Amino acid sequence: MSKTIICNRCHGEILDQDELVTSTIVFEVVAFHDDCYTKDLKGAKTIVLDNKPLNGFSGNATFIIFVVAALLWVLFADESIKWVALLALLSMGLRLVSYFRYERHLKNND
Ligand SMILES: [Zn+2]
Repeated sequence: MSKTIICNRCHGEILDQDELVTSTIVFEVVAFHDDCYTKDLKGAKTIVLDNKPLNGFSGNATFIIFVVAALLWVLFADESIKWVALLALLSMGLRLVSYFRYERHLKNND
């Protein structure tokens, strides 16, 4: 169950969920310290680094919205454009990768 989570910026260990931020660089899910993520967003990496974290409240809210939107889309969209729901699946997939690869290995202090 325990796995060392390494920050993509400073290469230090991330010890708990409070300091973990996961995001994507292109389509790779990566982990950062809270501070390191903020610093990288202001640096050159901002071109490829997604400015929306995958984890935390905003990530979870986005995830739920995508699930609902995808379901409604599949139910009500015209046959020929139902494939658009696959784009929502991609976003959901990244959220799950973030959870399984990083978040579940860290203790939750809530
Ligand atoms: Zn760091």
